[in-house]
Amino acid sequence: MHEFSIVQSLLTLIEQTAQENNAKKVTKVVVQIGVLSGVEPHLLELAFNTFKEGTIAEEAELVMEIEKLRIKCRDCGAKSEKEELNMLCPSCGSLNTQIIAGEDMYLKSLELETDEEVKS
Ligand SMILES: [Zn+2]
Repeated sequence: MHEFSIVQSLLTLIEQTAQENNAKKVTKVVVQIGVLSGVEPHLLELAFNTFKEGTIAEEAELVMEIEKLRIKCRDCGAKSEKEELNMLCPSCGSLNTQIIAGEDMYLKSLELETDEEVKS
């Protein structure tokens, strides 16, 4: 399954980040999933819950944010967020557009717990 390899690289990245920040555990993982990324959120969650066992993110909560398709029109310059999965510019009707967001899945943020006392 596609999502398994995604989660394995995600966990590698999480462990690296946690180490760099001297974290003892990860409490929350926020990922952004583009509508065109091909990632199935429920499969990603399943894979995450399977692979997090024994890692620094074992107790982490996975939060998935769905990123909508965003396009930029090459004709009128409008940037639009699309509800539908097509490339039509809602401002001028052109199909001469490019995708600016919604194709990728990435790690957005992490909540870490460290040994150090939090000073305010
Ligand atoms: Zn346009």
